[in-house]
Amino acid sequence: MQKITLRGINFDNVNMEEAVTLAEHALNGTRLTSVFTPNAEIAQLAVESPEMRGLLRRADILLPDGAGILLASEILKTPLKEKVAGVDFGEQMLSLAAQKGYPVFFLGGKHGIAELAAQKKKEQYPGLSVVGTQDGYFKKEGIENDAVLKKINESGAVILFVCLGAPTQEKWIDRNKDRLHSVKLAMGLGGALDVYAGIARRAPKIFIRARLEWFYRLLKEPRRIGRMMKLPKYILGTYREKFSFPKKTRRN
Ligand code: UDP
Repeated sequence: MQKITLRGINFDNVNMEEAVTLAEHALNGTRLTSVFTPNAEIAQLAVESPEMRGLLRRADILLPDGAGILLASEILKTPLKEKVAGVDFGEQMLSLAAQKGYPVFFLGGKHGIAELAAQKKKEQYPGLSVVGTQDGYFKKEGIENDAVLKKINESGAVILFVCLGAPTQEKWIDRNKDRLHSVKLAMGLGGALDVYAGIARRAPKIFIRARLEWFYRLLKEPRRIGRMMKLPKYILGTYREKFSFPKKTRRN
């Protein structure tokens, strides 16, 4: 499927249905496939830091999760089809897992959240098998991390939800993917478990349609203002790139 390079990062140009098809292929494969869903904040971090850029370039599937990414693709005249929000993609994976019998593991969130999310989702999808849960507040290296890897491996999970916030979750997947033996699909999905557990809410549809989900989150969590300043920076930088380089020589 087609990739579109935006500010040095290759996004998959897919709608939700096509993203699910990519995941289905990955689940039939022989090795682990990583899925990252960056928004403009993370994409801006990648513009600023070669380490983040390398990390995002190593993702197998990169889904555009944010109005800022869509806008940048339009500014650069290489429009992406649609925003594929991580939380929605995760929901599709739960439905697929329930239908096809893929065992799922929930990693992340505060104590008890992953269990609550599992309970709610098992009610919603009766065939769903959540074979393990683990909160996200453990040391991401050393023996604590080893114990979490052991727990995931012993569960036999095939689909792994990694919800540690960005960029912690992307770094964690990148660093540990070779140590996850049964997992075929490892996805970094931010606050998705909080939404599945019912302790956080998605923005109302009107905000999503108006591409203002980021604004709704800012209203709900004003402390995000610092990190959200990356969004206008990303857009301004995109305009700067558009006007300072002819399209063919754009950095990629
Ligand atoms: N979190 C976690 N471990 C950590 C830090 C954060 O499990 O060490 C969880 C946190 O409880 C929340 C999620 O990661 O559920 C981050 O959610 P947010 O919506 O802020 O995601 P982001 O926008 O950072 O991707």
